[in-house]
Amino acid sequence: MAFIELDVLNNNAEQLALGIDLGTTNSLAATWRDGRPTVLRPDDGEAVVPSAVYFPEDGFPVVGRGARERAMMDPGHTLFSIKRFMGRGLADVQADLRNVPCDVDENENGVVRFHIRGRQYTPQELSAMILKKVQDVACRALDGAAVTRAVITVPAYFDDAQRQATRDAARIAGLEVLRIVNEPTAASLAYGLDQKGDGRIAVYDLGGGTFDISILSIEEGVFQVLATAGDTHLGGDDLDRALADEARREIAEQIGDEAADDPAFRQALRLAAEHCKVELTRQPRAQMHLSLPDGGQWRRTFTREEFEALAAPWIERTLESCRRALADAGLGTDEIDEVVLVGGSTRVPAVRRRVEEFFGRVPHTELNPDEVVALGAAVQAHVLSGGTRDILLMDVTPLSLGLETMGGAVAKIVHRNSTIPCQATEGFTTYADNQTGIEFNVVQGERELAADCRSLGRFKLTGIPPMPAGMARVAVRFHIDADGLLTVSAKEESTGTSSSIEIQPMNGLTDDQVEVMLRESYEHAQDDFDRRRVADLRAEIGIMTHAARKGLESVGAELDRETREDLEEALAVVEREARSDDAEVVQKARDAFERATLPLASLMMDSVARTALTGKSLDEV
Ligand code: ADP
Ligand code: MG
Repeated sequence: MAFIELDVLNNNAEQLALGIDLGTTNSLAATWRDGRPTVLRPDDGEAVVPSAVYFPEDGFPVVGRGARERAMMDPGHTLFSIKRFMGRGLADVQADLRNVPCDVDENENGVVRFHIRGRQYTPQELSAMILKKVQDVACRALDGAAVTRAVITVPAYFDDAQRQATRDAARIAGLEVLRIVNEPTAASLAYGLDQKGDGRIAVYDLGGGTFDISILSIEEGVFQVLATAGDTHLGGDDLDRALADEARREIAEQIGDEAADDPAFRQALRLAAEHCKVELTRQPRAQMHLSLPDGGQWRRTFTREEFEALAAPWIERTLESCRRALADAGLGTDEIDEVVLVGGSTRVPAVRRRVEEFFGRVPHTELNPDEVVALGAAVQAHVLSGGTRDILLMDVTPLSLGLETMGGAVAKIVHRNSTIPCQATEGFTTYADNQTGIEFNVVQGERELAADCRSLGRFKLTGIPPMPAGMARVAVRFHIDADGLLTVSAKEESTGTSSSIEIQPMNGLTDDQVEVMLRESYEHAQDDFDRRRVADLRAEIGIMTHAARKGLESVGAELDRETREDLEEALAVVEREARSDDAEVVQKARDAFERATLPLASLMMDSVARTALTGKSLDEV
């Protein structure tokens, strides 16, 4: 319902270059835009390209999400984890060959070749396909601009041959490589740690199939890798497998081992397990739902505790690598100044907790861990394109700005770290029938509830003509000028009624306060998510029950007695359940109530149609 437009006004032209994270599991690109690195996400799709290639019987290879999906149906013609083979000979990759569904050999120069559908492909060519797809997505996000220059990242432990293979892949893809950059260095750049003075950084990167820990030092802006350690076969896939194995065991009891080992079913199980794992990052329990090979259905709810117990041994193994890396660097955890989390699997709350305990400090998680490498590569690409670094993190809003909505949640309108000057507009509407005024509470902060953010001021828009709830179209515009002065204005579109206030938010908080608020928002993220969901659901239920009462008043007599009593009962139930703090309970109550109102809704629709025919106004119904 909301419409958001964000016009960033300081759009100075410069030569664009991409920062590309070419990952084992996922790849993506970012670039420098409007004074900061930004992930390139097309309007109609996702930024992330799964690093997978599928070879159909005829036609071009399919790269990315499509390939991942095709693998379910046809696992024999999909290649994953190509990065493991870059710059390696057959002898180096014995362990990885088990997961390759096709014949593999080596050419006279010791380059691995995959034989698939009657052709041979080197890892460089396959990686080039992925890079091309990433470039494609990036260019689409840039409205079709043709960008061919790029910084590409590699793990810190990559040797010359592996780096050269990456360069070659880029050349094959038609990209001009500005530089190959270490992933942990890129992650540190994304956080601006090069600007914080000298220090030592631990970068903990848990991706899909690999774990890397890197200890870096920065001296006068120059990065040095002090030590690396890790496990080339440990990552999110293992967490998926742990969940999938648990599910498979239970399913096999039901349908037997043979059916449970059906290859297509195993793929489906793997995807369902990953989905369940991701859900468990956001909520305390999640359901795994599978169609069994025998046509039956299987459902099982996993709790976060169950998952964490399965994940614990893997997490402990990453910490052993951390100990090793520290020992190699000759450092204790107390000599590490910053810890940075990288990789999609560091979204798992238990991982964050254990890493924090291990290093004894709160790790950086402000940026998305699966985007941070690409963002850092974009910083480097910008610097290599002649841009200066100084403008990074200058002239940005330190905290998000937004409005309190019905139910006490916050609608963020200008996001944290937006470059200024900027403006953003969002649409709001009235909550009650014939509401002639709206009070706006302008808030600043990262938390999801207005009560936990800082209120910057309130103002009222009055003089909205009486109309039914939800009909008014009120556009609220936030404008921050170059001096950081915020003006918020609201305008009712049909009548042009408007009102505004000027606020000075930028010097209201000290850096320390900003730090504290940020930290709090990360600590409370899950809590907030649930509370926000409950607040939104309650507001929705409020509108629904109001409408149902009005409907009962006007056309309720036309309902049969049983339906009416059911509805009245449902009203009482939903109002009681809405007081619960459990989002699941409130969601269920809302859904059940919606079902109970269906007969009334269709009756009201009929009645509106009849009214139109007889020429009576809505008020008279
Ligand atoms: P790589 O660097 O290996 O290419 P990524 O950093 O993109 O990979 O990490 C991919 C892994 O992150 C996958 O195993 C995926 O399941 C996992 N992942 C992504 N999002 C989440 C999440 N919200 N919770 C748990 N794991 C996640
Ligand atoms: Mg990665």
